Amino acid sequence: MPELPDVEVYRHYVNSTSLHQTIEKVEIFSADILENISRREFRKHVEMRKFESTDRHGKYLFVRLSEDGCVVFHFGMTGLLEYFKDSHSKPKYSRVLFTFDNSYHLAFVMPRKLGKLALIEDPSLFVKDRGLGADPLDRNFTLEEFKHALTGTKSTLKSALMNQKCIAGIGNIYSDEILFQARLNPRTKAGQLSEQSIKELYHAMKKVLKKSIENQADPNQMPRNYLIAHRKKGGACPACGEDLIVEKISGRTSYHCPECQR
Ligand SMILES: [Zn+2]
Repeated sequence: MPELPDVEVYRHYVNSTSLHQTIEKVEIFSADILENISRREFRKHVEMRKFESTDRHGKYLFVRLSEDGCVVFHFGMTGLLEYFKDSHSKPKYSRVLFTFDNSYHLAFVMPRKLGKLALIEDPSLFVKDRGLGADPLDRNFTLEEFKHALTGTKSTLKSALMNQKCIAGIGNIYSDEILFQARLNPRTKAGQLSEQSIKELYHAMKKVLKKSIENQADPNQMPRNYLIAHRKKGGACPACGEDLIVEKISGRTSYHCPECQR
């Protein structure tokens, strides 16, 4: 499931492929992908405009249009973007297709429908309306704010990290990795952390997310001493060799080391 690093990689992808070209046509193959607008209205607002710039908050990608408005991409469980030339056929599971005047297309591809597109005016208002927490890579997101967000919940660390209203952008895979790097047990209550542990968790969170973006959010490119490559049945801890514990926490399959993360 796309988490913050994946969406940041998609953002770079849009920047390097799809900006500043006139969008000649928009085709929407699944109407239920549009969140707050009809197909007709969406096309009216987007066709003959250009994508001008991008922004991201948590798992949401914002692509600003020339003139006004902003398209919001949410990738659900399986969404991705693919830019391709006319001569290629559109990818399987394309739900929306933007056609540019250079004869290239940008497809919003989704094997399982759960992702959404919306048209909005103002990303900061959108973030506020959704009650989203801070983006962990926002340079204005301080340790103090992180502490405040965490200690405000009664939940486990794992749930708090995945709670989009607490911190936006972290899901099942990266919450496991962040807790492993900070050597904290996923079931520890967020409100019971020491000052020192909060600080370590804060730095681990930033380190893990940045490292993943650096590696194109590709688990296979992550360092071997990260948990991510070992998150599978029969997986062993890359630090101590102990068998990883697999259990459901908040309905998600979670991995941790019983030795390193007591
Ligand atoms: Zn271990």
